Amino acid sequence: MGSAFNLGKIFGIRFRLHYTWFIIFVLITVSLSWQYFPFVYPGWNLWTYWLTGIFTSLLFFSSVVAHELAHSLVGRANGIPVKSITLFIFGGVAHMTREAARHGAELKMAAAGPASSLVIGGLFFLLHLLMRGISEPVMAMAFWLAQVNVILAVFNLIPGFPLDGGRVFRSLLWRFSGDYKRSTRIATRVGRGVGYLFILAGILIIFLTQQWFSGLWLAFIGWFLENTASASYRQSQWQGALQGVTASQVMTSDCPVVPSPITISQLVQEYIFIGGQRCFLIADEGELKGILTLQNIKSVAQPNWEVTRVKDIMTPMEKLKVARPDQDALSVLEQMDESNINQMPVVREGRVIGLIARDNLIRFLRTRSELGM
Ligand SMILES: [Zn+2]
Repeated sequence: MGSAFNLGKIFGIRFRLHYTWFIIFVLITVSLSWQYFPFVYPGWNLWTYWLTGIFTSLLFFSSVVAHELAHSLVGRANGIPVKSITLFIFGGVAHMTREAARHGAELKMAAAGPASSLVIGGLFFLLHLLMRGISEPVMAMAFWLAQVNVILAVFNLIPGFPLDGGRVFRSLLWRFSGDYKRSTRIATRVGRGVGYLFILAGILIIFLTQQWFSGLWLAFIGWFLENTASASYRQSQWQGALQGVTASQVMTSDCPVVPSPITISQLVQEYIFIGGQRCFLIADEGELKGILTLQNIKSVAQPNWEVTRVKDIMTPMEKLKVARPDQDALSVLEQMDESNINQMPVVREGRVIGLIARDNLIRFLRTRSELGM
């Protein structure tokens, strides 16, 4: 998810732009200004083609933002908080803190996006009618945007999870079967199936009609769909497994507390060789100064272990994020992802009572799945 560009907040929801969007923006602008508009509307001057192209791309982009915003606002009104949205090639991915707890909420949230695209498409169509005979560039722009918003709505309504249509489909399955997990599994399978169909169609187009560009494009969309379906399924399994689990349930409480002035060799001899621990809380008189893992120790050459103190190589408190014991494990994981860290101390009333490492969470999930929970 890494390479995204921060756009700022709209209604308290952070919007991020994935770098692929810059490519798409250029592609759309060029193909509009250079091919589509000159072909359909000959006789404008060069500037008009390019300005209309750029403007149309920007409005297309705003249409996608509006579509995502519709999901988020309806989601929020139905108790599904959305923290941020990353805009990808084919629209956006909302980062929800949790999945919908009720099928009704999921249905409304999923349907809100395509519905808003249809409304926006309708409005652009009206604008196109109004601009007839007044301004051809504005009319042309409105007409293209009307079509593209309808396409956006229809594409997103394909019933494969995690597309909007797949979510609608899942919420209906969920409603009739009452089984959330099974519904997700079925909707994911359909989503991957649709992905494979796109790939197949792409290949067929290339072989039968030699239209490489359309074929590759279709296959690429299919590949993207198949991938996102699998990835969202894994993510929803994670989310499901961590639902209702608190930080205190997944933390290790056997990280010994070590005073900050001791040297690495003391630490290795007195703790690591004897106790076999791999993580340490560095504290002086009960006050946490930082944490230390084997990783930190490995960064120092062995001959220097005698003279290096643990406080020189620990991850200091200022750089640490802290979890509360009752905080839910999922949000701990999200905080780790956001700040790109691998462990978080769990603190109650100013005292460290344990440490959560990414491995703990993975081990917890593995144990749970082995037990068939
Ligand atoms: Zn959508």
